[in-house]
Amino acid sequence: PAPSPAGPSSTARSEALFARARAVTPGGVNSPVRAFRSVGGVPRFIASAHGAYLTDVDGARYIDYIGSWGPMILGHDHPAVREAVAHALSGGTSFGAPSAREVELAELVTRLTGTDKVRFTSSGTEATMSALRLARGFTGRKFIVKFRGNYHGHADGLLVEAGSGLMTNADGPLGAAAPSSAGVPPEYAALTLVTEYNDPAALDALMQERGAEIAAVIFEPVVGNAGVLVPTPDFVDALHRVKDAGALLIADEVMTGFRLSLSGATGLLGLEPDLSCWGKIIGGGLPVGAYGGRAEIMEFVSPQGPVYQAGTLSGNPLAMAAGLATLRTLEADPDIYARLDAYTARLAAGLQDAAHAAGVPISVNRIGSMLTAFHQGAPHGSVGSYAQAAGSDTAGFAAWFQGMLARGVYWAPSQFESIFVSAAHTDAELSTTLDAAHTAYTAAAG
Ligand code: PLP
Repeated sequence: PAPSPAGPSSTARSEALFARARAVTPGGVNSPVRAFRSVGGVPRFIASAHGAYLTDVDGARYIDYIGSWGPMILGHDHPAVREAVAHALSGGTSFGAPSAREVELAELVTRLTGTDKVRFTSSGTEATMSALRLARGFTGRKFIVKFRGNYHGHADGLLVEAGSGLMTNADGPLGAAAPSSAGVPPEYAALTLVTEYNDPAALDALMQERGAEIAAVIFEPVVGNAGVLVPTPDFVDALHRVKDAGALLIADEVMTGFRLSLSGATGLLGLEPDLSCWGKIIGGGLPVGAYGGRAEIMEFVSPQGPVYQAGTLSGNPLAMAAGLATLRTLEADPDIYARLDAYTARLAAGLQDAAHAAGVPISVNRIGSMLTAFHQGAPHGSVGSYAQAAGSDTAGFAAWFQGMLARGVYWAPSQFESIFVSAAHTDAELSTTLDAAHTAYTAAAG
């Protein structure tokens, strides 16, 4: 299809749907970021998606840089995925009993990631929540460690951020972290210790102080949820040292798994976690999550072991079919990650040039097909922590986002998110995107 971002400028149908939605659903959406709260304006209600494009209910077409927040690495409505799901559909939608596709997807995931065993869930949240329960069951310890600004889904113990009294220096232990959501009892949040990403000294100090009580350290191997943050080699080393204290290292690859390489971010960065969590791409756009790791740990999961975990729709045949088709297509195309990387590298360079020409300071973090352009003047690639990311000009980002949307480019509607490039993005989409970016930066500067 022609890379035309043109379309009706009316948002009347989205507005009408949003009003109806607000009457029957909190905030009118089923996941908060979709409400456009941090950028303003009317969330677009999407009618359909094909390739690199979304079409909204008013008929406007957008180049999509969200890709359903990561799963759509092949682009929307990919023929292999569509055919696999249609074929599965003709055989029934859910069995509540084991089936061959679950075995095939587990074999594929374990082979590609070098994992012994996996268990499928229906979301990334269930995967991380279950991996933590497993880590606690396996180690017999209570506490977990997470990093400020990392997101692992919405299980109670993971909705915890650094409180103002939190210590991250080498002098002492961390204080109790505060829940970042109402409804999470402080007593429960107190079992989650929070420290800074990319701060090896703080992690070492925490492990020295509390290591014997810590069941697991969970982390995003490349952060997508504070905007893109790439771990430094020193930090990667410190992550490995947590094993010395008998804590399990849990890589949350829900976003990065099969996104940054066939073996995820851990493969790319040489990380060796004890457990990993997946989601998004392994479901090919249908609801799937998974956790897995070494056999001796995974054998603690029921019915083999004492750690309970289950799911009515786990291993759903349609979801397994979509995941299998997606992973098989990725594996069959030896250049796909190089092409995604090349497109996104040119996107990063083009954004830098456009912003520079308009006099708008931006700092681009990019790895593979994940990218965040922070509206701030730090050198490109240098934003490494939640605190640095938080120093961005969110109003400037919002103005730029609206400028892009008006020109048919659907960027992630928050400064603190990664965008995701798909294999369906071509030179045509790149040039339309960069033209739009140039105009939007100029307008945002003006
Ligand atoms: N972990 C990471 C790194 C994520 O990015 C997300 C979702 O964005 C999750 C976990 C939660 O996954 P889900 O939204 O499928 O529950």
